[in-house]
Amino acid sequence: MTNHSNTKIDIVKSSTSKIDHVDFENLTFGRTFTDHMFVCDFIDGKWQQPKIMPYQAMSFEPSARVFHYGQAVFEGMKAYKDDTGKVWLFRPKDNHARINKSSARLAMPEFPKEYFFNGLETLLKMDKDWIKPGIGNSLYLRPFVIATEAAISASPANSYRFMIICSPAKAYYSGKVRVLFAEKYSRSADGGVGFAKAAGNYAAQFYPTSLAQEKGYQQIIWTDASTHEFLEEAGTMNIFFRINNTLITAPISDRILDGITRRSIIQLAEDNNITTEIRRVSVSEIKEAARNGSLKEIFGAGTAAVVSPISAFEHGNEVFEIPDNEKSFAGMFKKQLEEIQNNLAEDKHGWRHEVIL
Ligand SMILES: *Cc1c(COP(=O)(O)O)cnc(C)c1O
Repeated sequence: MTNHSNTKIDIVKSSTSKIDHVDFENLTFGRTFTDHMFVCDFIDGKWQQPKIMPYQAMSFEPSARVFHYGQAVFEGMKAYKDDTGKVWLFRPKDNHARINKSSARLAMPEFPKEYFFNGLETLLKMDKDWIKPGIGNSLYLRPFVIATEAAISASPANSYRFMIICSPAKAYYSGKVRVLFAEKYSRSADGGVGFAKAAGNYAAQFYPTSLAQEKGYQQIIWTDASTHEFLEEAGTMNIFFRINNTLITAPISDRILDGITRRSIIQLAEDNNITTEIRRVSVSEIKEAARNGSLKEIFGAGTAAVVSPISAFEHGNEVFEIPDNEKSFAGMFKKQLEEIQNNLAEDKHGWRHEVIL
């Protein structure tokens, strides 16, 4: 266990807690926030003293650069509580490394590891009652960085704010996810920012996704921007295909986000002796496999929903239904991941990180 208590945090505790007003059985994802938040400003070339304060609205000048040029990156992670009351994070070093990779691509400063862990763990200690035990319950953590400098010239800012806010989450059953394979719009291109968790990547997806939703599809599976022939990812989730008993997923690149759930599933597949191919996956191959019955599953993988089975896809005005699979890889990976995350199974790969309360 690393001791992160060397970075001092200014703490202002909330005088009352909102927790008694929260219905933990009926949470809408991302709408309820805990009592506290973590804030650290970057000014004059360095990160200032971090603070934890009551969750509250903040004020920024209208000229703050984030509003004009979109210098904003984020992370999504979860804290879990086991039945003995211990609190766990899942591969949090990977989130720290990734937010810095995202920041670097957007010409934003990296956030020091000690600040990240000390901030996160102190915040979790203060808001630990908001984490409910039981598989499916978690506290969703949203670290993010924005450019705060008040200046609208088009160049990187000199000041930034790093924050963490926390939102209690229930198991989230997305229902049967029907998807559209992208034929016109693109999410990212070679040399672009697709690999970064940049806010703008999401903004660019909302319009094409709303068109897909009008046709009855919840999500788009993005294809490569130049040919639209290769399947890349779902935009909030990486994507896996099962043809017969082989698991297939696209390699990460500068167009595809390096998901921690994806990485974990590839490892679990190896642990379960499942043949895995990490290679480009073509639309025509998946359509052919759907026609001849060898396409057994498609599922998305990401922190929010863990694993989301996909029940149908459309491409070229043809709809393909994927029959339910009793012994699905999706179900197996979801169960194994959740058991590791919730301290109910052996953690062979050292993925769990205990938060000392
Ligand atoms: C966050 C995200 C994912 C999933 O990553 P995890 O680390 O597994 O949560 C996949 N694709 C995109 C574009 C994302 O932003």
